[in-house]
Amino acid sequence: MSTYLSKSLFMKGLQCEKALWLTKHEPDLKPLPSSFQQARFDEGHAVGNLAKTCFENGIDIAQKASTFTQRLSLTQTLLSAARSTLFEATVSYMGVLVMADILIPNGYSGGWTLIEVKSATSEKAVFLDDIAVQYWVLTRSGIRISKVELWVVNSNYERKGPIDPVVFFKRMDVTQSIRQRQKGLYEQVQHFRTVLKTKTRPEVAIGPQCFSPYDCDFMNVCWANLPENSVFELAGLHRDKKFEWFEKGITTVAEVPTQGLPLFQQIQINAENEDHGVRVNQPELQQFLAQLHYPLACIDFEGFQMALPPFDGLKPYQQVPFLVSMHIQHSPDEAPVHIEKMVSFGEDPRYLIAEVVAKNIPKNACVVAYSAAYEKSVLHQLAQLFPQFSEPLLQAAQSVIDLMTPFQKGFVYSKKMRGKLSIKSVVPAFVEGLSYADLVIADGEMAVLAYSQLATEANEAQKKELERQLRDYCTRDTYAMMQLIQALQKLGVQQP
Ligand code: SF4
Repeated sequence: MSTYLSKSLFMKGLQCEKALWLTKHEPDLKPLPSSFQQARFDEGHAVGNLAKTCFENGIDIAQKASTFTQRLSLTQTLLSAARSTLFEATVSYMGVLVMADILIPNGYSGGWTLIEVKSATSEKAVFLDDIAVQYWVLTRSGIRISKVELWVVNSNYERKGPIDPVVFFKRMDVTQSIRQRQKGLYEQVQHFRTVLKTKTRPEVAIGPQCFSPYDCDFMNVCWANLPENSVFELAGLHRDKKFEWFEKGITTVAEVPTQGLPLFQQIQINAENEDHGVRVNQPELQQFLAQLHYPLACIDFEGFQMALPPFDGLKPYQQVPFLVSMHIQHSPDEAPVHIEKMVSFGEDPRYLIAEVVAKNIPKNACVVAYSAAYEKSVLHQLAQLFPQFSEPLLQAAQSVIDLMTPFQKGFVYSKKMRGKLSIKSVVPAFVEGLSYADLVIADGEMAVLAYSQLATEANEAQKKELERQLRDYCTRDTYAMMQLIQALQKLGVQQP
């Protein structure tokens, strides 16, 4: 077991002492990162590597030396020479070990500029805490840091040709904030070292720290014994409020007092207590259904977003649709027609997706999407990008009706929803025999991951299988919407 208190352990300790202790003493309890988390880590590394290209002839300590001992020694030698920009400079003080993303020597003025690179688009307190401990270790080790910069992704950057690292990053001088954060770090380090020396797990109750600044790795340990339908499953509302109830002994949704709560939460709580199957507000549901007309077009896009925009005209993290599914029904007596288009990884999908929607969506269609903000924004984005398709796309965007509305506003509610509004939770509650349980790809995160796997999958058969799974997922969404509409229409004509 390493004797160092690494920067990531230090950060873990700031979040929760128990998480710090578990990471060191019972690391097997920590689940492996999900493929989605791993993809996010990889993206962070890619952003870090891009930042390094701003400095010619920088020396990457992590590449030149493999063990921490070697890295510490090489760093010391290069720091003494003070001639080269260093990547991953490795320094320790009082057993705390940090690796600085970028250290630039400041020539005759002396000292170094410390740069921390993050793949987020704005400054966060947790980033400053992270840099503060690096600054503490470096300066206590006798290295003069005259300036500290935080580099984040410039969300206004628009790709034109190869990504230009000079304008891709937003650089912030955080020297003052970092110096102000030095107070108390010595005591903090001492305290964490004491925690780590303790033989038994610290007793820490679950609390808001479990989610802040990141979801804790040990939720499977500390949250395992909550009662079924715990108070934390109450939809919406600030988590602090739920902890307040929990600490008062209100542990389940059914026990929460309804007074003063928004309507949806009242409905969820009452459903738990009254055990009625489905609650329907007929006038409101009928009013919602009256907006629907034929031809009816249920639409769903799947998209990806990347820190490093892969195509010209894209900004960092801009959503790019790569798959569309539409179920179109021309009249109540006709069976819906299914149309879909998926564009292979590596190709800019926007034109092909825009074309298939523009050419197939009927004029004056009533367009329906579930949690429709994304579909609306994609339609607007594509209309702006391709003027030749703007008329049908804008018409579609303007007519979008959000099928989540009757559930979100409590016009209909089923206890089976458990307060959740995702289509995956709503469909099985209202459409008998239909769910997402049989699908390999069953949510948006998995879809994005499968799409990115297409980039590296060499086996053609496996590639085709991934594409089929993606299509099945998107198709299920629009098919499910059609079925949900029918289910709501039945509920809307029943007597209350
Ligand atoms: S789940 Fe919460 S209480 Fe448990 S270790 Fe993590 S932060 Fe601490």
